[in-house]
Amino acid sequence: MQLVQDKVVLVTGASRGIGRAIANQFAKAGAQVAFTYLSSVEKGEALVKELEAYGIKAKGYRSDASLFDAAEELVNAVIADFGQIDILINNAGITRDGLLMRMSEEQWDEVIQVNLKSVFNLTKAVIKPMMKAKSGSIINMTSVVGVKGNAGQANYAASKAGIIGFTKSVALELGSRNIRCNAIAPGFIETEMTGELNEAAIEEWKKAIPLKRGGEASEVADVCLFLGSDLSTYVTGQTIHVNGGLYT
Ligand code: NAP
Repeated sequence: MQLVQDKVVLVTGASRGIGRAIANQFAKAGAQVAFTYLSSVEKGEALVKELEAYGIKAKGYRSDASLFDAAEELVNAVIADFGQIDILINNAGITRDGLLMRMSEEQWDEVIQVNLKSVFNLTKAVIKPMMKAKSGSIINMTSVVGVKGNAGQANYAASKAGIIGFTKSVALELGSRNIRCNAIAPGFIETEMTGELNEAAIEEWKKAIPLKRGGEASEVADVCLFLGSDLSTYVTGQTIHVNGGLYT
């Protein structure tokens, strides 16, 4: 029996980076994997084949997590295809960095819509089926930046801090229904998102990390697997930091 054998997981933003690693880790551990992507259509289609190689059912959906109605449609489609959703992982996220002096209203709105509103959209859409099933695990991807703040990322930090408050509230509201809700706060993980940073900034980050290296997407996915599985049945309302000891 594998860790999440036959559980159905829905992961948003899995065409690359951390989401892709999460989809792989769950497939390897026996889950059936539904995932979304938006602009990376070819990568999304390739991921289905990658996941099916583990001998599980997998399907990709092109869906914009920031749109309320699209989230409802997505959840209905996943339930029609897979029968249930046991684990939701709200991973989709973007950055639109800039100092507040220069940040446009559009940069602010886009980040809040994609990073924070998406978490509301998807969570709202899955809680009815999870309540009916009397169980569920919701995992929201926040960030070290949501806890600490970061110059040049006021929009991103606000969206990620919002996710932590949302996570605790959902845990309080739905604990009695056996639905758990936790957040993961990655530190510096080497993906396309952090690939946009300049070399000097990356070296500064690494110096400040006790483990003296950036994290791998699979190391975030491992913690997701723990929170999605029955190894964490008494864990809810928490933010788990996966950051190599940064800011400890
Ligand atoms: P990434 O490599 O940029 O990947 C982002 C993923 O989100 C892509 O699959 C993208 O899909 C998807 N996405 C973006 N907008 C979307 C939308 N509106 N609807 C659906 N999917 C959407 O980012 P990452 O580094 O893997 O980050 C994943 C999550 O971890 C994010 O929430 C990020 O904030 C968080 N995080 C990352 C780090 C880090 O160091 N990398 C640290 C802390 C937290 P398409 O390509 O198809 O558009």
